[in-house]
Amino acid sequence: MAATLIDGKALAAKVRAEVAASVAGLDHVGVATVLVGDDPASHIYINLKQKAAEAAGIEARDHRLPAGTTEEDVLALIADLNADDGVDGLLVQLPLPDHIDEHAVIEAIDPAKDIDGIHPYNAGRLYLGRPTLVPGTPLGVMRMLEEYEIEATGANAVVLGRSAIVGKPMAQLLMAANATVTVCHSRTRDLQEKTLGADILVAAIGKPHMVAPEMVKPGATVIDVGLTRTDEGLFGDVDPRAVERAAYITPVPGGVGPMTIAMVLENTVSAARARKPRDLANPAH
Ligand code: NAP
Repeated sequence: MAATLIDGKALAAKVRAEVAASVAGLDHVGVATVLVGDDPASHIYINLKQKAAEAAGIEARDHRLPAGTTEEDVLALIADLNADDGVDGLLVQLPLPDHIDEHAVIEAIDPAKDIDGIHPYNAGRLYLGRPTLVPGTPLGVMRMLEEYEIEATGANAVVLGRSAIVGKPMAQLLMAANATVTVCHSRTRDLQEKTLGADILVAAIGKPHMVAPEMVKPGATVIDVGLTRTDEGLFGDVDPRAVERAAYITPVPGGVGPMTIAMVLENTVSAARARKPRDLANPAH
């Protein structure tokens, strides 16, 4: 029997509606995005984030800087946005041009405004099991598991990829949800042996259709984070024929992608609430 498709688009719409309702109950919620350079994919992502923020009633400021902008100027802009009371969430689109030290920029973001959850403070809180702002992609995956009542407790979860933005926080969240987690990467030996043990398999590699159907345990939940744009279209990491073996699977597109943006908006509301404690008095919003 073919797997149930996890509808990320529909769930993201639900999350965005919840965000809009929360924003309506707050005085003002603002986000600022910073993009350096002219990477076309980055411009697409920022356009999507800007539009989604505005649709939720969040004031969205859009800073696009030329590729030649110095690190000093980027850091000065971040300092201004950190100090700006109208900005609750601050998002720097990665990757940055080579001449800019990405770590220096990330560490310059006020952790309380770090809606991508990539500042060492927020990453450390997640590691310690005391999460604050968590990266949107793994957060969206956890929301999908909850929505489809996929039990993580006691499950064998295998995460393919160990990046700071997806693989590592994904593993932390699954571990916190009581799964037994295995993290695989480019040096992992006998990947198939690992993936065949996975009740929950999360692929975040960036290699089109690398996860073949025979690598999937029958009845597994398969979450495809991978997104590779080619001239032939958009590809996930999982061969779509895995739908014949899995119990649940996310499509590409329409799976994890829309959830990421929705969860970044949710993080913006969390950041705004944390910065405006008076709103905590009204839990309906
Ligand atoms: P990344 O930083 O390039 O990390 C890729 C990871 O995959 C690395 O840990 C790498 O291992 C591992 N890997 C590479 N080849 C492998 C192989 N043959 N077998 C096992 N592991 C392998 O990428 P990322 O930022 O985590 O993103 C991963 C993918 O998710 C990309 O396609 C990206 O576009 C997509 N993505 C999607 C969303 C969304 O909203 N849907 C959000 C973020 C990212 P090493 O550490 O050993 O190099």
